[in-house]
Amino acid sequence: MAEIKLEHIYKRYPGNDTDSVTDFNLDIKDNEFIVFVGPSGCGKSTTLRMIAGLEDITKGDLKIDDQVMNDVHPKDRNIAMVFQNYALYPQMTVFDNMAFGLKIRKMPKDEIQKRVDNAAEILGLTDYLQRKPGALSGGQRQRVALGRAIVRDAKLFLLDEPLSNLDAKLRVQMRTQIAQLHQRLKTNMIYVTHDQVEAMTMADRIVIMNDGKVQQVGTPDDLYNKP
Ligand code: ADP
Ligand code: ADP
Repeated sequence: MAEIKLEHIYKRYPGNDTDSVTDFNLDIKDNEFIVFVGPSGCGKSTTLRMIAGLEDITKGDLKIDDQVMNDVHPKDRNIAMVFQNYALYPQMTVFDNMAFGLKIRKMPKDEIQKRVDNAAEILGLTDYLQRKPGALSGGQRQRVALGRAIVRDAKLFLLDEPLSNLDAKLRVQMRTQIAQLHQRLKTNMIYVTHDQVEAMTMADRIVIMNDGKVQQVGTPDDLYNKP
């Protein structure tokens, strides 16, 4: 759990003559589920990648528990990110895929075993730990990607359109599973989607973005149900 603040964040990519993100402000409270929603190209992914440290912040401050994080290396941010294309290693087992990030951090073996077993149990992957990703369904692969994030015990989860490669039925199931995961882990999550229904069903608060700017912030009720 943590308090995350985005204070007047701007992003201009090298070579571009306009800002991809303009004056983004947001305070994220403990255990909040935030959804960024908006059309393709509006800056959702860029914002997420700046929070993760995968892109430099051009101007403004990212703070976690009042510490400025702008120059902190991604590995030291205690943030876990899940991508739409899973980013699994095809030649490794499910266990090794989930353990990889911990191994490179030189965590003791028994601790790794404990964390992977726990994540697998939460995600219903216990019977699949020795398989390779190629022998899994799309939904199972996405759960392995979630597992890689869970084992990190991160303060903040960033999910970038994690369900967009799944068919409609599975997407609805996984929405529920991610919402339950959020309850269980008691962590902050930022979830990016272009799907308004997804935003409305999952979010504590929704950030509506357009053309690099935050247009509105509010609960699903505030934004969609009030006259
Ligand atoms: P979204 O995630 O909402 O689809 P993005 O954050 O990917 O939007 O993109 C926001 C804007 O930044 C777009 O205009 C896009 O073309 C631009 N952009 C994204 N990545 C780069 C990059 N690596 N270099 C230059 N421009 C980029
Ligand atoms: P993270 O902890 O950021 O989720 P890991 O610690 O598991 O990622 O991965 C360690 C390094 O390996 C990172 O630099 C990451 O970008 C890279 N990596 C992770 N997955 C893949 C992949 N499927 N293919 C190539 N590189 C990857």
